Amino acid sequence: MRARDLLHTRPEGLYCPPGDFFIDPVRPVERALVTHGHADHARPGNGKVLATRETLDIMAIRYGADFCGAMQAAAFGERIDLGGVSATFHPAGHVLGSAQIAVEKGGLTIVASGDYKRGADPTCTPYEPVPCDVFITEATFGLPVFHHPAPKAEMGKLLTSLRQFPERSHLVGAYSLGKAQRVIRLLRDCGYDAPVYIHGALAGLCDYYVSRGIDLGDLRPATTEKGSAVDFRGAVVVGPPSAFADRWARRFNEPLVAFASGWMMVRQRAKQGGVELPLVISDHCDWPELTETIRELAPSEVWVTHGREEALVRWCDLSGVPARPLHLVGYEDEGD
Ligand SMILES: [Zn+2]
Repeated sequence: MRARDLLHTRPEGLYCPPGDFFIDPVRPVERALVTHGHADHARPGNGKVLATRETLDIMAIRYGADFCGAMQAAAFGERIDLGGVSATFHPAGHVLGSAQIAVEKGGLTIVASGDYKRGADPTCTPYEPVPCDVFITEATFGLPVFHHPAPKAEMGKLLTSLRQFPERSHLVGAYSLGKAQRVIRLLRDCGYDAPVYIHGALAGLCDYYVSRGIDLGDLRPATTEKGSAVDFRGAVVVGPPSAFADRWARRFNEPLVAFASGWMMVRQRAKQGGVELPLVISDHCDWPELTETIRELAPSEVWVTHGREEALVRWCDLSGVPARPLHLVGYEDEGD
């Protein structure tokens, strides 16, 4: 069997003809296998959805319990037969519940890794290398210029700023699924045990992480109706980045805006977003992680889904690994 007969692109997303299913479809389909809960990968309106328990729960929190016709939970490592094709979910280390999906038929294995990272993250199960013939990888930070620093060192910048500006409310922008919980957990791991105030948009997912055994410490709602600005002097307030461009943010005392994202490596992005304290904390692989992963797996072929495909494809070619871009559209790095 040729790899393209087992998986190929269609406008809806990656399609497996013998199994008749899509992986992370961008439009509603009859049967979807979903790698993780970010909005660009997990969309409502599909017939059947197969995903990890956590991803199904996250989709229900975000879209409501009726986000699909029927759901099935896949445990890590469990082989699930779909019309003679075996599908197995493996940890991707990206956000809680995130998975790579290995598709196998007739001795040919293709791994669709979704979004993944190799760096330590106590809020999700670490990435697991899965031997395969074809490795499908994202390339969000697929340029040699991208090197993500140690997350604890970045968090140290926030703690230093809190000491330097004890009167100012430190507003930390972080995407609501994954990044926000990771930032809070990192703060705790750096010894910060004061209450962390969270925007209402994060409450449901933070509660869910806590229910899955991820200790986020003392979390309190960042509601400003009852109190005055004084209540948040020197406090850490975590919210979705969009909230800080809003009137909501102006209620805080001399707000200092931070933003936790891999894109904060790009000075211009921080500047344009009015970010005073950029924190380079990413849930994606940087360039060394991408290339080391491909070296480690040594697949016979690499397909690159989204991001900066060209540089990674070129690197593969120079390294003797046949590679091609898939030119998939609709994946917008919700959780960068
Ligand atoms: Zn993602």
